[in-house]
Amino acid sequence: MSQKINGVKGMNDLLPGEIEVWQFVESTARTLFGRFGYGEVRTPMVEDTALFVRSVGEETDIVGKEMYTFEDKGGRSLSLRPEGTAPAARAYIEHSVSNQEPVSRWFYMGPMFRYERMKTGRYRQFYQIGAEAYGAKEPAQDAELMDVVVQFLEALGLTDVTLNINSLGDDNCRPAYHAKLVEYLNAHREELCADCQQRLERNPLRVLDCKNEKCQAVAAAGPNVLEFLCEPCRAHFTDLQRKLGVLGIKYVVNHRLVRGLDYYTRTVFEFIASHPALGTASTVGGGGRYDKMMKGLGGPDVPAVGFAMGLDRLVLLLKEGGKTFTPRPDLFIAVADEGSQDAGLALASRLRREGLKVDFDTRGGSLKSQMKRADKSGARFTLVLGEQERQSGQAKLKPMAGGEPIPVALDSVAATVRAQPEAPAAAPAS
Ligand code: ATP
Ligand code: MG
Repeated sequence: MSQKINGVKGMNDLLPGEIEVWQFVESTARTLFGRFGYGEVRTPMVEDTALFVRSVGEETDIVGKEMYTFEDKGGRSLSLRPEGTAPAARAYIEHSVSNQEPVSRWFYMGPMFRYERMKTGRYRQFYQIGAEAYGAKEPAQDAELMDVVVQFLEALGLTDVTLNINSLGDDNCRPAYHAKLVEYLNAHREELCADCQQRLERNPLRVLDCKNEKCQAVAAAGPNVLEFLCEPCRAHFTDLQRKLGVLGIKYVVNHRLVRGLDYYTRTVFEFIASHPALGTASTVGGGGRYDKMMKGLGGPDVPAVGFAMGLDRLVLLLKEGGKTFTPRPDLFIAVADEGSQDAGLALASRLRREGLKVDFDTRGGSLKSQMKRADKSGARFTLVLGEQERQSGQAKLKPMAGGEPIPVALDSVAATVRAQPEAPAAAPAS
C-alpha cells in the first residue's frame, strides 16, 4: 500500500461546512471596506526577501525567525509574504500611485506565512484582512481606519473586543525614550527571559511585546513612552483621541503597546478579544502609522496608516458564538421510481436555474434511503417525484420541520417555495 501524504504542519485545510464562516467574514469585509472607499489590492504571495528585511526589520521575530525564505532557480532570495503592508507599499511605489491621486485607500485579504510555534489561533499559513490609507498624515485618517475595524467587528457581531492605542513618537522624540528604556532594561536584565536579554541588545522595544509574565512586569514599571513625545507627536495623539470621541469609539491608552514590526511611527493600536477561546492569541488585529516606510523603500515621501486582522482568530470567535453559516437547501428532490430519475435530474437543474438551492441524490436508490438523506440535508422541503406526479404535473412540498404538505404545480415550484415563510431550521440529523 502507498504511504499517505499529509498536509504541511501548521497549514490547515478549510473544507465545505467550515468555509461558510470564512466566506461570511470575507464578504462582510468587502461590503464594509467598500463603504469606506477602500479598494481591493492583490499582490503576489512571494516577494523579494529584501522587501521585508528593509520594512518589517531584520531584528523582528517575523523576519529574523519566522520567514519562509528560499532561493529560486535563478538564485534570487525570495520569501513567502509574512504580512501584507510591505507588499502593498511595494506595489504602491512601483505603480507610481501617488502621482495619480493624493490619497489612496486599499484593502487586501489572503494567506500569510510565518514559521511559528503552533497553537490555537497561531498557524504557519494564516489569513489576514488588512487596509492601508496612503497620503494623509492627519489623526482623522487614523480615526477613520479604526472606525472601519470597529464597524467591521460590529457587522460580524463581535462586540467583546477592546481597542488599545498608543503613540511611539517619531525620529525626533523616540531616541530619548529609546535611551531611557535601554538604561532601565539593563538595570533589570536579570529579571528578563533569555529571549528578551537578546532583544535588549538588538531591538529593546520588542521586550515590551514579550508574552512572558516576568518580562511584562518589568515592562509595566518601565519608562512611559507617552511622557517622551515631542510637541507635534503629542498633539497628534491628543487629536486622535478627540476624534475617536467624536466617532463614539471606546479605547484604552496602553503605553506598553509597541507591536512586532519596526516600521511604525506615532499611532499604534490593537484590538484585543476577551474570549478565553483564543488563549494567548487574543489580539485579533492591530496596526499603526508608518510615515517613513515609503521613503525607506525608495518611494515618495507619503505618510500611511494601516491595520491587519487575523481571519483565523475572527473565525474562532464566531464559531464560539454557535451560529451556523451554511445555508440549507430550499428543496430536496426524491424520486419514487427508477423511471423518474431523469425527470428528477432535469427538475433539479431547472429549479437551480430559477435560483433555488436544490439537493438531489445522483445515486438514486430506494425512496426510503432518499428520505433519510433528505432529513440529513437540512432542506426546508422535500418533493417526491414519481410516475403520478409526472403525469399530472402536480406534486407536494413536504415541510421537513413538520406540518401539512403543500400542493404545488411542477412548473411553479420555485415561486411556491419562495412564498413559504421561513420556519426555524430543522436540525439536520447527525
Ligand atoms: P502576535 O502578537 O499574536 O504574534 P503579531 O503582532 O505577530 O501577533 P501582526 O503581525 O500584527 O501580529 O498581525 C496582525 C494579526 O494577524 C494578529 O493580530 C493576529 O490576529 C494575526 N496573526 C499574526 N500571526 C498569526 C499566526 N501565526 N496565526 C494566526 N494569526 C496570526
Ligand atoms: Mg507574532
